[in-house]
Amino acid sequence: MNSLRLLWSYARARRNAGRWKTREALERWQDTAVRRHLAWVRRHSPYYQELYAGLDLRNWRDFPIIGKTEMMGNFSRLNTAGLDLGEALRVAQRAEETRDFLPMVKGLTVGLSSGTSGSRGLFAASAAERAEWAGTLLARVLPRGLAAHGQRAALFLRSNSNLYRSIQSRRLSFRYFDLLRPWEELLEQLEAFAPTLLVAPPSALRRLAEARAAGRISVRPDKICAAAEVLEPQDAAFIAAAFGHRAVHGIYQATEGFLGATCAYGTMHLNEDVAVIQREELGEGRFVPIITDFRRRTQPVIRHRLNDVLRERRTPCPCGSLFTALEAVEGRCDDLLVFERVGGGTVEIFPDFIRLAVITAHPAIEEYSVVQDPENGGLRVALKTPLPMAGEAARTVEQSLHRFWKNQRFRPVPLRFGPWSPPEPGQKLRRILRTVPQLP
Ligand SMILES: [Zn+2]
Repeated sequence: MNSLRLLWSYARARRNAGRWKTREALERWQDTAVRRHLAWVRRHSPYYQELYAGLDLRNWRDFPIIGKTEMMGNFSRLNTAGLDLGEALRVAQRAEETRDFLPMVKGLTVGLSSGTSGSRGLFAASAAERAEWAGTLLARVLPRGLAAHGQRAALFLRSNSNLYRSIQSRRLSFRYFDLLRPWEELLEQLEAFAPTLLVAPPSALRRLAEARAAGRISVRPDKICAAAEVLEPQDAAFIAAAFGHRAVHGIYQATEGFLGATCAYGTMHLNEDVAVIQREELGEGRFVPIITDFRRRTQPVIRHRLNDVLRERRTPCPCGSLFTALEAVEGRCDDLLVFERVGGGTVEIFPDFIRLAVITAHPAIEEYSVVQDPENGGLRVALKTPLPMAGEAARTVEQSLHRFWKNQRFRPVPLRFGPWSPPEPGQKLRRILRTVPQLP
């Protein structure tokens, strides 16, 4: 393992946090880094050699945008290690099935990432890149810094990878908790491990918080980090309260890289010292990010459009960081619901609006999900409430949604109510969907 590289990246990420005096200086530095990176990628990736043939690298900000489809469709020629997509997929798939997570091809780690709408992504990274990723992550996430001894990080993840196993030392140990294991077993192991840092998807954090509130575990981590799913405000509040914390921190990560983390003030900042994040503006501070990572070489991520909607923070964060501050990672583009205007035409609605209309409707609502049928636009609303309240809660949600449609001048859609059930273990918790979740 590249432990020197890890330490180097760690130190670099810590230093970068306060390295630039102005936003302009940061952007000038990014520009140089991207151009140098693209020159390298163009020499080593057959796909980019062709795509960027004859282009002036100074104009990289306007180069073609690619998405997951292009990335996967051209994977074998796009990566710079001569990795074959079919072979990499076979190895990664086998690791998922056997849950033996040491998938290596040509000395590279490969892994599957679950995308939204059932599309799967593949990532490939070299040992040096993994070390760099880990160093940056630790710099941004570790509550007490790497110099402090006896830190224990508990990671609840859908799938392990030798990425996480690689970091073990006297100062820091990682323990991976497989979300597909029986819950009782996980609770017992977590209690014994006594983590100082707890990282998990919000759905798992929520269950851990319930277990803690019920006195079934007594762990008291210094820091709690939500990863892999959108953390909704009511979950954040519940989880923080159960663990006696002021806030739940967050990691913003995708196949496309480690994109952001919360600062000491709980504000999510983008990692603009490893990637440029361009914006496809949606108005009112919302944007879809287009990522250009200028560190990753094995699997270049350049002008890569993510299926996320980010909302910028309107006021500067008190921590003073120059890195873009976000109010929220609002969710994936597929979570937009579609309604018809009364006068004709359709409109896409951010999940936030529906979320508000549902959770503010009735105080007894503990959990919910809203699934839109793309055929007729109807909504299937599942609610978790104490039983005697179910009928009343459904009625108030119905009224709340009708009020929303009326105010917005949308045509009402058919509503169906039913009881809520938790996501299958290992599945992402997604409350607002536009399609019926597909079975694997
Ligand atoms: Zn901040």
